[in-house]
Amino acid sequence: MTEGNPAAEQPFAARAEAEAEAEAEAKAKAEAEAAATRDPSREADAIVVGARCAGSAAAIALARAGRRVIALDAVRFPSTTVSTHLLFAGGVAEVARLGALDRVEAIGAPHHDDAYIEMPNARARGTFSPVDGIAYGMCVRRAGLDQALVDTARAAGAEVREGARVTGLLWSGDRVAGVRVEARGEAPYELRAPLVIGADGRRSTVAGQVGVAEPHTIHPNGRACYYAYYDDPRAEWRGTAGMWRTERELGTVFPCDGGLSLVLLMPPKEFAESFRIDLEGEFDRTIAVMPGMAERLAGCARATKIVHAIELPSYFRHSAGRGWALAGDAGHFKDPVTAQGIRDALRFGRLLGEAAAPVLGDPRRLDAATAGWQRRRDHECRETYHWTNGLARSTAVSALEETLLRSLASRPDGSRPLMDVYSRVRKPSRLLAPGVLAGLLARTLLRPGVNRGEVLRTAWAEGRTQLAVRRDLWRSARS
Ligand SMILES: Cc1cc2nc3c(=O)[nH]c(=O)nc-3n(C[C@H](O)[C@H](O)[C@H](O)COP(=O)(O)OP(=O)(O)OC[C@H]3O[C@@H](n4cnc5c(N)ncnc54)[C@H](O)[C@@H]3O)c2cc1C
Repeated sequence: MTEGNPAAEQPFAARAEAEAEAEAEAKAKAEAEAAATRDPSREADAIVVGARCAGSAAAIALARAGRRVIALDAVRFPSTTVSTHLLFAGGVAEVARLGALDRVEAIGAPHHDDAYIEMPNARARGTFSPVDGIAYGMCVRRAGLDQALVDTARAAGAEVREGARVTGLLWSGDRVAGVRVEARGEAPYELRAPLVIGADGRRSTVAGQVGVAEPHTIHPNGRACYYAYYDDPRAEWRGTAGMWRTERELGTVFPCDGGLSLVLLMPPKEFAESFRIDLEGEFDRTIAVMPGMAERLAGCARATKIVHAIELPSYFRHSAGRGWALAGDAGHFKDPVTAQGIRDALRFGRLLGEAAAPVLGDPRRLDAATAGWQRRRDHECRETYHWTNGLARSTAVSALEETLLRSLASRPDGSRPLMDVYSRVRKPSRLLAPGVLAGLLARTLLRPGVNRGEVLRTAWAEGRTQLAVRRDLWRSARS
């Protein structure tokens, strides 16, 4: 017997019962307190990190499906970003599918009714096949475009928190269960949801936190990007997106909102040192090397500073896992030379939201849905990835490319094979099929004055590249 301890004097069974009762009471009290203090602003059906192209698109799709979605972005909108912003008809159609087209049109960018491509011995002008009835491209500066997307997400019912940076993920066992957030003027807080979508760009925090920052497929870029906006009074060009190539140089002029045109130069990456030493001088000299481009810009004046981006490898990351997925550049990036990034970020952001929305309450089905979405993205993007990597090489214009461009300009049936590839309604492999390449080679060899040895070497190299691409597509279709 222990003196002075009444509990110890109780029979053992009664004591155990009293302890169990006290424990149950404490648990119920803790649960009641937690329920009373539970903050609905700290829970959602889905969290989206990043609220530009991919993030807004995912948030719109989830909100439209009636899900409570919170999108967080470290910046405050309107906000620009390092990106040019050409959309072909297929990209404009993705804006429309999100219900954002009226807002984007209101910004006032001109429609591009056609595109013009010029090489030293060939030029082509191509219109767009309609995609969902849309037969024009557009170039809308990112501050306005992204604001329109954010506004559309809010109108759809998504909550968008600006100036809110995600610093880490919350885990429940091996599943991602939420995010840690820091916002100026607020104490750091946690947000919980069964799905966290990283739409946070090429340097994705979410990709790093789930351990997939290292791409499983990567291709270095051969060209750097330098761009600036020009006052553009050339009314006759306002409806045309133009590209000029001479030797290894490539330049574009895309009329955009504000009476401006976006002038983008993509010199071989190894010329970056000359740009570093004399940015403006080198920019002007590069334009002068392309006489057609210089003529296009006659009467236009540079209105802004020159922005540059040099290291832009294309890649695929593993983009779906337990309670997480990566949309937009966070999961997949292509060199800007084919201007496909915004279109793909919008499309696959939306498709991810649509795939996840009905199954957020069931972890097994949610993981299957995000895995299926990833397979679809990879399947749809892989050919365009290879085609882009081909154009992103900084090789000189070849006679073969000129013949291809000429043949595309003159389709008697009115078809638009090249612009259809840019709009994603035709696969690049159909443009570069073996029979097409053989025909091109024959026509090029017949051209007077061509260096036939050079043509054969280029054709051999192109044939090998196409073979490697087809092997990769075949392998990835089976994996
Ligand atoms: C030089 C250049 C030129 C390009 N030109 C074109 C073109 O002409 N046409 C085209 O279609 N595409 C172009 N692209 C590609 C295009 O810019 C991208 O594909 C597109 O921006 C991807 O959108 P996103 O929403 O995935 O990512 P982003 O636009 O990069 O947005 C990511 C967002 O995530 C936010 N974020 C990041 N980390 C966090 C965090 N931890 N917490 C909260 N928020 C965070 C960022 O603030 C940012 O707002 C170009 C790209 C470059 C680099």
